[in-house]
Order: sequence, then C-alpha cells, then structure tokens
Amino acid sequence: MYNLKSFHTYLTKLFFILVVSISFYMLFLQTQAFTPDSQFNILIVNSYHNGHKWESNVLEGFLGSMEEYDNPYVNIKLEYLDFRSSNDSLYLDTFKNFLTTKYPKGSIDAIYTIDDEAYNLLASEISNPKSEFYQLPLVFSGVNEDSLVKKQLSPYITGIYQQDVTFQLLSFIFQLDETVDEIKIITEDSGYGNDLIAQVSTLLDTYWPDQVELHCIQSDYIEDIEYNLCTDNPHSNAIIILGGEFQYKKYNKFLEPNETVNIIKSYCNVPIYSNDQTYLSTGIMGGCMDIGQKQGHSIFEIVKRMIEGERVENISPILAPPPQWLLDYNSIYNYDVEIINIPEQSIIFNKKFYQLLIPAEYKNLFRSLILLIGCTFILFTVLGIKHLYRHKKMKKILQQKVQYEQLRTDFIVNLSHELRTPTNVILTAIQLIRLELSSTLEESNHNAVYKQLDNITKHAYRLLKISNNIVDITKLECGKLSFNPQNWNVVEVVEDIFMSIQDYATKKQLQIIFDPEEEEFICAIDKELLQRAILNLLSNAIKFTPPQGKINGTIRHNDAHLIIEIWDTGIGIPQDKLDAIFNRFYQIDNTLTRVNEGSGIGLCIVKEIIALHDGSIQVTSQEHKGSRFIITLPYIQTHKTSHHGYISSIETAVNIELSDVIK
Ligand code: ADP
Repeated sequence: MYNLKSFHTYLTKLFFILVVSISFYMLFLQTQAFTPDSQFNILIVNSYHNGHKWESNVLEGFLGSMEEYDNPYVNIKLEYLDFRSSNDSLYLDTFKNFLTTKYPKGSIDAIYTIDDEAYNLLASEISNPKSEFYQLPLVFSGVNEDSLVKKQLSPYITGIYQQDVTFQLLSFIFQLDETVDEIKIITEDSGYGNDLIAQVSTLLDTYWPDQVELHCIQSDYIEDIEYNLCTDNPHSNAIIILGGEFQYKKYNKFLEPNETVNIIKSYCNVPIYSNDQTYLSTGIMGGCMDIGQKQGHSIFEIVKRMIEGERVENISPILAPPPQWLLDYNSIYNYDVEIINIPEQSIIFNKKFYQLLIPAEYKNLFRSLILLIGCTFILFTVLGIKHLYRHKKMKKILQQKVQYEQLRTDFIVNLSHELRTPTNVILTAIQLIRLELSSTLEESNHNAVYKQLDNITKHAYRLLKISNNIVDITKLECGKLSFNPQNWNVVEVVEDIFMSIQDYATKKQLQIIFDPEEEEFICAIDKELLQRAILNLLSNAIKFTPPQGKINGTIRHNDAHLIIEIWDTGIGIPQDKLDAIFNRFYQIDNTLTRVNEGSGIGLCIVKEIIALHDGSIQVTSQEHKGSRFIITLPYIQTHKTSHHGYISSIETAVNIELSDVIK
C-alpha cells in the first residue's frame, strides 16, 4: 500500500518535470525563431548597375513578395557592384572593403547576391573567419548550376541555381520553323554573351548538325552591331538570337531594349528570338525565357524561412523556376508562323481578349464573317428602328382617324336626334291642322291644301327615317341596340308587314303575294327588329320594281334553319355590286338624277339585325329581271315567354319606311 502511494507521488513529480521542460524548450525555440520586435536586415548586392532590366525584374519579384509578407521588421539595404563599368581587382577589393566597413558584424542578418559577379565577390567572405561577413547566411540567384556544383558550397550558402535554357530556346525556334538555315547571335561582350555563343554552337553541332549557319555579332556597342548588320545581310530564312544590353559608344548610355530591337529591324526583317526577358514586348518574336519576377519570388521564399528562424544549413539550394515559352501574337502573323507548329506550352503575349489564334486565311474569313454579321446587325437595327418609327407613326395616324371617325359619328347621331324633335312637332302640327280643317270645311274644297299637307307629312317621315336609321346603325355598330329574342310565329310576323304595305303596293300598281309553306313556324326572334328588316326589304322591292311588277314572299324551313325569301321583278342589281349593297351608305345609283330616294343605310341595318339572330342574308339578282333576298335564321326556340311587342305603331313605321317610295 505504502509502495503504491509513493509510486503515485513519483509519477506526479515526473509529469510536472516533463511539462516544465517542454514549456522551457518551447520558450527556448521561440527565442531562436524570429520575434516580431527584432529587426531582420538583408543586404542585397546587385552585380550590375541600377536600372539593369533583368536584375530590376528579379528585385521587383523579391520586393513584391516582401510587400505581401507585410512585416515591418524586415529591412532591405541595396548595393550595386556595377561590374560592367569597372571590374579590375583593385575596384573589386575596394568595393568589398566598402561593404564590410559599411555593414560590420551584427548590422545585417543575411546577404542576397543577384547574378554571378556579386556572388563571386562575396561567397569567399562567408568562410573567411577574419571577414565581417564570416558565417553570415548568403542567398544567391542567377548563378549557373555548373559553376557552383564544381565548388564545395559553404553550409551558410543557399539559393537558386540558374539553369541554361539555350537548348529549350533552339528547340522552340526549330519547332516553329524547321526551314531556318541561319542563326545570327547578337549579344554583349560579357560572360553571359560568351556563354550564349558557346551554348548555341555546341547544341547546334550536337543536335542539329549541318542544318544551319551560325554567325555571331558580339559587342557592347550598338554602333558595332549596326556596322556588322550592314555588311552581312542575313538569309531569308535566317533568325536572330538577341541577348544582353547595349550602349551608345558616343554617349556612354544604355539603349532601351525596344530601341535595340528597332535598330536591328531597320537593317533586316527576320524573326528575333531571345532567352532574355528584357526583350519581352519589344516587338521580337519571342523565346524561351526565365522570368526574373518568378526568381525574385522564389528567393524571398528562402529568405522568409530564415526570417522565421530556420537555420540556413537546413535550407538546400533549389533550381530556378522553369522557363516560359513566349510568343508575340502580332509576330506570329507578321512572320507567317504556322499555327499548328506553335508548341502547346507556349504563352501568347500581346494578344487582346477578342483576338483568336487561328491560321491567317481563317482569320481573314473570320474577319469578313464578323464584318458581315456586323453589317447585317446594323442593317437590321436600322430597319427595325425604321419599322418601329413607321409603326408608331401609323398607330398615331390610326388613333387620329379613329378619334376623327368617333367625332363624326357623334356629330351625325346628335344631329339626327336633334332632327327628330322638330320633325315630330311638324307631324303633330299637321295632324292638328287636318282635324281643324275637317271640322270646319268640306274636304273637296281644300284638295290643294290636303295635297300640300300630304307632301309635308311624307317629307317629315323621310326626315324621321334618315334620323332613325343613323341612330340605329350607330347603336348596332357599338353593340348598344338591345336584342330580345322570344318565341313568335314568324309566318304571322312577316304576313303583318306584307299586309301593312298593301296600300303602297296598290298605289304603285304592284302585285304582292305572300305564300308561306306552312301556316306556323314558331321560332325565337326579336319581333320588332325582324319586322324592321322585312319592312326594309319590302320597301326596297316597292322602290325598285316598276308598275305592273310583282313582289313575292315565302317562308320555309330546312332542318335547323328557317328561310325567309322576298323577291321582286324589279330593276335588279348588277353582279359586281351585289356584295357592296350591304355596306353603309352604299347606293348603286348615287347620281343627282337618280329615280329613287334613300340614304343607303337600310340593307346595312338589315344585315346587322340578321347577324344579331345568328343568321345570314344573301342576295341573287339579274339586271332588269329582279332581285331575291334570302334570310336564313337558326330554327330554335327560347324558354322566355312572349308578350306583345309590335312596332309601336306598325302604320307609322310603314309610313316612315316607305316615305321615299312614292313621290
Ligand atoms: P336605300 O335607302 O338607298 O334604299 P338600302 O341600303 O336599303 O338603301 O339599299 C342600298 C342600295 O341597294 C339601293 O340604293 C339600291 O341601289 C340597291 N337595292 C336594294 N334593294 C334593291 C332591290 N330590291 N332591287 C334593286 N336594287 C336594290
């Protein structure tokens, strides 16, 4: 029991010690790592001058990544060896002394050298115990892999190896155009230039023997290059490989990359390739290039690991990011590159989002197609706008017309209404005069007065007829005329009308015969309206049938229809006018010398009345022989009970309707 308790205490103690040691270890590790309040100073030494294109790109990538990292305790010190201005041992020693004096031990935490020259100058200092830079972490870029592998790297040195991309560049060139028969290298007089020429020459001998002629122009000065280009014209299937930076002899000033390209192009118009990013977007064809910004970014990733406490010995050197195959969009077409030959991994630059990478012949076709589509679109838009405008205009005209028509109809209806009142007053006055005359005087003594009164009555009825017709046709057209069908014996209804016009017919020496097939046809009709229609047909028959003529009427039925026919032996209607007579205001003889009076509305009202009954009306006629009107009504009955609804006074209605029959 005792032993168990002491074992438990022992375990607790052990656990406590373990926790304390882990915490202590963690604390210790943290002090080793970067603490936010301690400064981390990086000395960046460029091999060339301030503004050197390649080094500026690398620096841009490095500083860009640093900005993203956003750590205020990381500082940069920038120095330029400017190797191409001066590179004798005295200068190099002096520059080295300058750096070690300016940055004594403890003032910087890491050195970053861009390109070989700066690296070669400072790498030895790292393993020199007497140097201020002894055992200081050094990061390199732009140093050829081969030159480093041979040397034993100090554990304090790391970075990214520059890979030679000349093989990729040549492969790229021959893939785009296998007919290339001359390569002209234009490069600076430097280690880079020497390497470029040596690499191209070796690779051509090894992989493309006897295929191309190699010519080189190597100088730091543009004037020398111009002179060479002047004297040695390249073949038509030649290409130029351009690399390095050039100066004017006279001004001792570096040319902008596009200036160099333009000068070369002014001497020979052959595709220019490069492995130097400096020449990207200067009008060259393209090339296989290391991208400086990418290298700068990779270097910062290494430095970041150091900032965060990783020891330089644990960070192994890595290879530079793979080069990119870049091709200028416009040059593809300027130098007739076959689209099919463009390697898949190529990046096309200077290509606008709307441009397509297609063969030149398709491009023209495509352009024409786009132009055609564009023109068609414009044409249709213009036509559409025009159509819309015309439609709008027509709509406006139509609206105006409808408005005008409405105004006209309203005016005529009002006028007709207004005419009715005085006409009725005239008719009443005439009746009173007649009464007065009959009570006081012998009718035979006043024949002349009675004749004039008859005349006034007849014309008053004509006025009423016109007014009624106009009001009715307007009501019919607006659907305001009430339609009230009830079951009636149609034979009786029609016979009544035939009988009521008997006097008029006799006066005009016409024979009237109404002969229905049966005595009774009970059918749902609006009696008043149907009587008006029949009266109109009969009044026309009387009007247009000369004395001694005949007017006939019949009613028969056929299955679902009731057929009412009225025919005469009158003047007839010309065949080409048969359809028009049902139109509003239509009269066949509308000359001032016409024999019969009328307004040309009657048949139009008849047609509308029959249509209200869901029926139809047809006419057949022969000139000088007569006319036949055939009304077809649905032979149906309604549940509504019928009550008397004769035209208020059939006699007055007949008088009004036939007012224009006898003069
Ligand atoms: P109106 O009041 O002029 O008679 P209608 O509409 O009733 O108007 O008739 C239109 C025209 O049709 C008439 O003017 C006439 O020329 C022709 N018409 C109608 N019925 C007959 C008929 N039975 N015989 C010959 N012509 C007719």
